Amino acid sequence: MRLLLVEDHVPLADELIAALGRQGYAVDWLADGRDAVYQGATEPYDLIVLDLGLPGKPGLEVLREWRAGGLATPVLILTARGSWAERIEGLKAGADDYLTKPFHPEELALRLQALARRAHGLANQPQLEAAGLQLDEGRQCVTRDGEQIELTSAEFRLLRYFMLHPGQILSKGQLADHLYDGESERDSNVLEVHVNRLRGKLGREVIETRRGQGYRYAGVGA
Ligand code: CA
Repeated sequence: MRLLLVEDHVPLADELIAALGRQGYAVDWLADGRDAVYQGATEPYDLIVLDLGLPGKPGLEVLREWRAGGLATPVLILTARGSWAERIEGLKAGADDYLTKPFHPEELALRLQALARRAHGLANQPQLEAAGLQLDEGRQCVTRDGEQIELTSAEFRLLRYFMLHPGQILSKGQLADHLYDGESERDSNVLEVHVNRLRGKLGREVIETRRGQGYRYAGVGA
């Protein structure tokens, strides 16, 4: 999943980039509000983490411009401790959730997972489940018929994206757009290798190939 982090406090940004990377997000980082307005609206992000006190343009204005322009991506705002007015203004401007600084990285992780599930109509699930598989996003492993199967980080990223889009045909371009950050090289052969490894672990039927179109997550026992 592709995530935009907008945070101007470099030590915090560094910490979050590392933590979010370990959680399997492809993170693009910006520190300036003006840059965020443009990039947030043009790149295909799945989630956005937005600090409100930013140089260039305040985070609240950034958020208002995104929403006015029709951007529906879930946005979690980072607010200063004790500033209830900021949180209320943020929610009014279209934020989906907020965290008050300082926060525990695990709380951010759990809130982002919940936001992603909600955005895909899976708000009822305490963990990601689709067509016979349950994904543990904290431990990055999957359960099939009660059996726990370990995943590499690349396999986890790919399977999570598939499981958020069950039954949908996903082109290789679309997968690459959502699995790699703006700086990474995109290689569709690598994607194919990971798809085949997932099939090796979970069963061939789990991911179908649609010739000339891409892949489709079918799950097990479908
Ligand atoms: Ca700030």
